[in-house]
Amino acid sequence: MATLVIGAGIVGSAIALELRRRGVDTTLVEADEPGMGASFGNVASIAVTEFMPASRPSVWRHIPGWLMDPEGPVCIRPSYFPKALPWLIRFAAAGLPKRMRALEAAGAALCARVHEDLAVLLKASGQQDMLTDTGCLCLFANDAELRADREHLEALDRHGVPYKHLTGDELRALEPAISPNIARAVLFAENRSVKSPHKLVMGYVNAFEKLGGKREKGKVVAFTREGRKVTGVQLEDGRQLMADQTIVACGARSHQLSKLLGDIMPLETERGYHTQIMAPGISLSHSIIWPAKAFMVTPTAGGLRVGGTVELAGLEAAPNYRRSEITVKRAKEALPGLQDRDSKQWMGHRPSFPDTIPVIGASPNMQGVLYATGHGHLGLTLSATTARLIADLATGQKPPLDITPFRVNRF
Ligand SMILES: Cc1cc2nc3c(=O)[nH]c(=O)nc-3n(C[C@H](O)[C@H](O)[C@H](O)COP(=O)(O)OP(=O)(O)OC[C@H]3O[C@@H](n4cnc5c(N)ncnc54)[C@H](O)[C@@H]3O)c2cc1C
Repeated sequence: MATLVIGAGIVGSAIALELRRRGVDTTLVEADEPGMGASFGNVASIAVTEFMPASRPSVWRHIPGWLMDPEGPVCIRPSYFPKALPWLIRFAAAGLPKRMRALEAAGAALCARVHEDLAVLLKASGQQDMLTDTGCLCLFANDAELRADREHLEALDRHGVPYKHLTGDELRALEPAISPNIARAVLFAENRSVKSPHKLVMGYVNAFEKLGGKREKGKVVAFTREGRKVTGVQLEDGRQLMADQTIVACGARSHQLSKLLGDIMPLETERGYHTQIMAPGISLSHSIIWPAKAFMVTPTAGGLRVGGTVELAGLEAAPNYRRSEITVKRAKEALPGLQDRDSKQWMGHRPSFPDTIPVIGASPNMQGVLYATGHGHLGLTLSATTARLIADLATGQKPPLDITPFRVNRF
C-alpha cells in the first residue's frame, strides 16, 4: 500500500515516521524545506494542560476590550474583518455551554495520550533528550487574576490533570528572575518543552528516511482520481505521484487542497509571533505563561523564546513585528532583567478551526484521503497523538479513542 503524506511540518513528519515505523510504503511531499512553517517557530511547549476550547464566555467578555487596545493580545486587521466574520460567528457558537464541554472532553482525550505517543516517536528518532521536563509555571499578579483563570483549573480537575499552587516566594525559589510583582503561580508539572521545535521535525524526517521513507520536494496543486477514489497527486512542476492513500497535513493551507475534493473546512490562520532572544541576560529552567498578559516564554537550545498574540489577517499579509515587540514588553513585566538586544523576530500561521479541536479523519467525499490539520495552538503538543490516530486509520486498526469529534464534516 503506497501512502503519500503532504506537508512536512511537525504533524506530517510525525505521521510519516509513524507510518514508516509500521512498515508502510510512505512518501513525504513538501513544497518548501521540512519544518519551516508554523512548526518552526512555536513556543516549544508540550502543553497537555491547554485543552480548554478558546471560545468561552469568559473569553468573549474580554474580546471587545482586546480589539480596542492596540497592544491587546488579539487583533484583527480591519481590511480582513469581512473575510474573518464567518469564522468568528462559528467561534462564538463553539462557546455555547453544552458544545464547550464536549469540545473540552475531546481535547482532553487527545492530551491524555500525548506523553505515551510522543515517547514512541522520540525513541524512533533517537531524540529522547529533546524534552525538558521541569514543567510550566502559570503566573498571576494577584488573587483576582487567579480567580479569573479558575475555569481553566476546574477543567483540569474535571479531567484529573494535576497542578500545584505556589506562593510568590515558592515561585521565586524556583525561578529567581521572576518579578516580586507576581504574587501567585500554578505549576503544571505534566507539561514539557522541546529544546528546538525545528530540530524535532528534522529528527523525525531523518529517522523516516533512515527507515526507508521517500521524500519529494514540490507543491501539490491537484489530485488524480478514478471516480470517487483519489489515486495520487499532481505537483506544480507537472509530475504525478501515485498512491493508494493520501494524507493532507498542510497546516494553515490544508483547506486549499481539501476544497479540490469538495471538503469545505472553515480553517483560519491565527497568526502568532515569537522573539528568539539569544542573550537574554537571565536564565529560566521552566516555561512561563502569564494568562492575563497572554504571552509565554520558553527556554530553548538557542536562548529564550518569547511568543504569543493572535492576529487575524490571512495567509498573505506581511508580518507586523510590532506584535512581537508588545509581547516582549509584557514579558519584561514578569522578568525585569530580560534583555532583548540580541534577538530575532518571527511570524507563523497557526492552522485553526473555530471550535479549537483539529480535524483527524477520512474525507467524507472521497476514498483514499485522510486529513490531519487544524491543530491551532497545540500542533506541537498533539502531533505524535495525531500520527498515532492517522496511522491506525491508514492501516485499518481501531484508534485508541473515539475520533468522531474530529471528523471533517462536523461544521
Ligand atoms: C507563535 C506560535 C506559538 C506556538 N506555540 C505552540 C506551543 O508552544 N505548543 C504547541 O503545541 N503548538 C504551538 N503552536 C502551534 C503549532 O506551531 C502549530 O499548530 C503546528 O506547527 C502546526 O503544524 P502543521 O504541521 O500542521 O503545520 P506547518 O508546520 O505549517 O506545516 C505544514 C507544511 O505543509 C506544507 N504545505 C502546505 N501546502 C502544501 C502543498 N500544497 N504541497 C506541499 N506542501 C504543502 C508547508 O510548506 C508546511 O511545511 C504555536 C504557533 C505559533 C504561531
